[in-house]
Amino acid sequence: MIYNVAQLLKAPVGTSQRVELDNDDHLDLEENEARLAGPITGQVRLHRTNRGIFVDGVAEVPVELECTRCLKTFTQKFELPIRELFYPVIDVETGLPVAAPEDDDLSYPIDQNHTLDLREAIRQNLLLALPIKTLCKEDCAGLCPQCGKDLNDGPCDCVPDTEDDRFAALRQLLEQ
Ligand SMILES: [Zn+2]
Ligand SMILES: [Zn+2]
Repeated sequence: MIYNVAQLLKAPVGTSQRVELDNDDHLDLEENEARLAGPITGQVRLHRTNRGIFVDGVAEVPVELECTRCLKTFTQKFELPIRELFYPVIDVETGLPVAAPEDDDLSYPIDQNHTLDLREAIRQNLLLALPIKTLCKEDCAGLCPQCGKDLNDGPCDCVPDTEDDRFAALRQLLEQ
């Protein structure tokens, strides 16, 4: 996901180049952010614009997630639309520094070696796509709060609600 774009930067505005995302699975993700479950795949197009290079395409990122209800880990593939502007920090022809665009928080730099690194853009898009609540399936039954059994495998032997039972006993006493 790292490309040398010196040739493309020298090409006229409007030139574009298609690249496959390679199997580099290092995204610099923090332990608490996400875990990749396999290689990143996908395809993007690099477009030479008058401001730099616009990257447009889709990254397919398999992520290992933990179900918030039953705590099982499962893999989910995220199809992340990538639409990012990359701007050069030096001019490819003159070697002189180029001022960053004013909205540079919306874009990424191409370094002085004319290297365009997609990893941070993919990481940012992935973090935005990750759900706060992750469920292995929409109707996951979760774990029994008393015995911890995975209720997706069937019911456990726990009395459903002990509090109700106590009230029932109390009611019986009152009725006597
Ligand atoms: Zn679950
Ligand atoms: Zn139980």
